[in-house]
Amino acid sequence: MIWLILLCFGEGPYGLVIHGGAGTIKKEQLGDGLEAQYRQVLQQALDAGYAKLQAGESSESASIATIMVLEDSSLFNAGRGAVFTHEGKNEFDASIMLGSGRAGACAAIRNVRNPILLAQAIMNKTPHVMLVGEGAQAFAVELGLKLEPDPYFFTERRWNQLQKAQEAPPDERWQKFGTVGVVALDQQGQLAAATSTGGLTNKRFGRVGDSPIIGAGTYCDNQTCGVSGTGQGEFFMRGVTAYDVSAMMTYLNDRVEVAAQKTIDKLTERGGSGGLIAMDAGGNVAMVMNTAGMYRGIQMSDGRKGVWIFKDENP
Ligand code: ASP
Repeated sequence: MIWLILLCFGEGPYGLVIHGGAGTIKKEQLGDGLEAQYRQVLQQALDAGYAKLQAGESSESASIATIMVLEDSSLFNAGRGAVFTHEGKNEFDASIMLGSGRAGACAAIRNVRNPILLAQAIMNKTPHVMLVGEGAQAFAVELGLKLEPDPYFFTERRWNQLQKAQEAPPDERWQKFGTVGVVALDQQGQLAAATSTGGLTNKRFGRVGDSPIIGAGTYCDNQTCGVSGTGQGEFFMRGVTAYDVSAMMTYLNDRVEVAAQKTIDKLTERGGSGGLIAMDAGGNVAMVMNTAGMYRGIQMSDGRKGVWIFKDENP
């Protein structure tokens, strides 16, 4: 009987929370057309992930499906539409971690259509956590992952951002966010978190950010929460930001919303900017930022849903 009740109603909610980057997102700058497009693609990404969860698939597969929609869209700084390096190239970082503790990541890769698939393959098909540069690239070829030529990733908007960044004063040359991330919770109560990015506009010398670094830009533990961050990666790396949320839950017994806010407060104190999404195994969600906005959304089996862009639009 109890089994039947559990089967009908589940043990708790399942669903997902996503982000598409945090930063100085201003309504006037976006314009109505672009704002509507962002909201639409965020919803498509939520739908893709939620459909997997609803069908009883794993949080891993929901996370991958979600990130692929965002990577394939030219609006976000991941896959197609990624920002440009100083030399005018697109270079990607991505990672995935499961609540069981397994993880995979790739950094400084080029021409791979969906970097998140490479991160997933590193987790599932190698004994390693992270592959970078040429080696990671060779592995992508060996796997037969879809590669695209440079023009596929090109967008005029990002190209103009590079020109602007190169003319800006030195301390403003690196600012452009738009990384994508997800935390999903499946019907089996397993969490997964994933992040994918082109990094920062005008990055140089093989710079790698926080997004592919487990503990910095991505973290996941079924006992605490899944986290994906976005913002100035150097601050997230120095603050071990994604893990910090989980650690506060473990050691201080904080709720996920409290831990996430404290972590962002720390980021602010240290002069960093950005935001993060987090979800615990009970389906409690946090979406926090110290920027003017963060593209974000949730879709949960208990009816919580929506997409938001500006900070003061919080649900
Ligand atoms: N955190 C990313 C990085 O530093 C950038 C972003 O979130 O947009 O590479």
